[in-house]
Amino acid sequence: MEYKVIPISEKIAHDVRRSMISPQFPSLPAFSSVATGYGPCRCCLETFKEGSEFRTSFTYDPVEGILDLPQPGPVFIHTSNCERFAGDSFPNGLRGIPMYLEAFDKGGMLRQRVRIDDGREDEQIRSLFADEAVGLMHIRNAEAGCFIARVEKS
Ligand SMILES: [Zn+2]
Repeated sequence: MEYKVIPISEKIAHDVRRSMISPQFPSLPAFSSVATGYGPCRCCLETFKEGSEFRTSFTYDPVEGILDLPQPGPVFIHTSNCERFAGDSFPNGLRGIPMYLEAFDKGGMLRQRVRIDDGREDEQIRSLFADEAVGLMHIRNAEAGCFIARVEKS
C-alpha cells in the first residue's frame, strides 16, 4: 500500500500570493512577514529560514470539497513562489518537525490520532491505512496544531 503527501493546491498558493486574502474565506486578509518560526511552508513542505525568509499566513480549509463541515485554520506558505512538493514518499522537509497524524473515515469522523516518531513515518502511515475504514489523513503540527498536509492512498 502506497501513499501520497499532498500540499495545498498550486491555485490556492498562487491566488493568496496575488490577492493577499484567503482564497476560501474572502473576508479574511493574508499577512506577509519575516519568518519567526519554522513553519513549514504548506506548498513546498520545507521549513522556513527563520529571520530571513518571508512567509504569508492565511486562513485555509483543508477539507473543502471533501467534507461538509469546514475546518478553517491558519497556515503559512513562502511569500515568494516556491516549488510545490510532489513525490511518492514522505517529504524530507517535514522530517524532524513535531507532528501528529489524524486518520479520518470516509464520513470525516476522526478514527485515530498518532504522534509521528521521527524515522517511522512510512510505517505509521501504512499502519493507519491498514484500517479499511480510513479514507484520508491530515498531518498537523504538534505544537501549534495547524494543518500541514493531507495524506491519501495512491
Ligand atoms: Zn515554500
